Amino acid sequence: MSVPAPINSQLMQYMLGSLEVGLVVIDRSYTIRVWNQFMQSHSNIADSLAVGQNLFGLFSEINENWFKSKVAPVFKLNTPAYIIAEQRPYLFRFSASRPVTSASEYMHQNVSLFPLVDEHGVVTSICIVVYDVTDEVVSRQRFEEANVKLKRISRIDGLTGLNNRRFWEECCVNEYKRLGRSNTSSSLIMLDIDHFKQVNDTYGHPAGDEVIRYLAEIIRRTTRETDICGRFGGEEYVILLPDTDGEQAMLVAERLRRKAALRPAVYEGTEIDFTISVGVCEYQTRFNNHMEWVELTDKALYNAKRGGRNQVQRAA
Ligand code: GH3
Ligand code: MG
Ligand code: MG
Repeated sequence: MSVPAPINSQLMQYMLGSLEVGLVVIDRSYTIRVWNQFMQSHSNIADSLAVGQNLFGLFSEINENWFKSKVAPVFKLNTPAYIIAEQRPYLFRFSASRPVTSASEYMHQNVSLFPLVDEHGVVTSICIVVYDVTDEVVSRQRFEEANVKLKRISRIDGLTGLNNRRFWEECCVNEYKRLGRSNTSSSLIMLDIDHFKQVNDTYGHPAGDEVIRYLAEIIRRTTRETDICGRFGGEEYVILLPDTDGEQAMLVAERLRRKAALRPAVYEGTEIDFTISVGVCEYQTRFNNHMEWVELTDKALYNAKRGGRNQVQRAA
């Protein structure tokens, strides 16, 4: 039987050189046997220098124990193994190929480890294939960042930075469900600026906007981080106070009312006095849904308006 002629080494060099992936062959003692053009240009180490060197001696960034445990089954079981960029960004620390346009300073790599066997079927060496996946990783990261931003934007009211009504209601529904299973109590506060039309009429709409923004700031500073504050509509706000009973919520509401009445907003150097009316309602087990809770709080707010404004009323 005739043995096929070995591939001419020049042709082999050409094939290895034209590959767009890194190709390294190591033997059982982790000595480098093949080092292709891709590896040479990204490491700046010529194959004449790399071949014959110990892999760990040449690349201190490769953790020896970890890598040996990764290749052990490849040697032992004659099966390939893979290292993906999500788990470990790179095997060889190379600069990103396009450092100017790329958002990453290093090359993200997917790495395959293939067993190479001798004529007896024994794995004598391993072929390491290095794929540059920087572009994929960076664009996925950008996509994920954009999603996080979009999600945030879709929850936030643009003028005040508080939660918008849709997201606030979502939180309220969740809290309502949680309360059904727990024996703690929570409260709602609803507030509305008094005679706000007059503020707009007297000082102009942009000044009105500033009052709305400023009151949001007072709300943020007066509540706890765990309270969920939202802009419910034009000059109307809602606050969900988890684990807070009616009495405690009344104290928060009164503090808000007092601050608003005592600290005028300032727009273009002009002080704008304003007051708020506030409704407070503690969760009650008799509610059938979260809307009943919101409606009862709104009723308390309405009573505060009817009672003369600039006051807090608690739902009966
Ligand atoms: P009340 O004491 O009964 O609450 O009187 P009010 O004038 O505040 O009552 P009403 O709710 O009728 O008026 C609210 C006004 O708020 C009407 C609307 O033009 C104004 N408004 C709503 N949203 C905005 C906003 O984003 N910016 C400004 N500047 N004004 C707004
Ligand atoms: Mg109003
Ligand atoms: Mg209103």
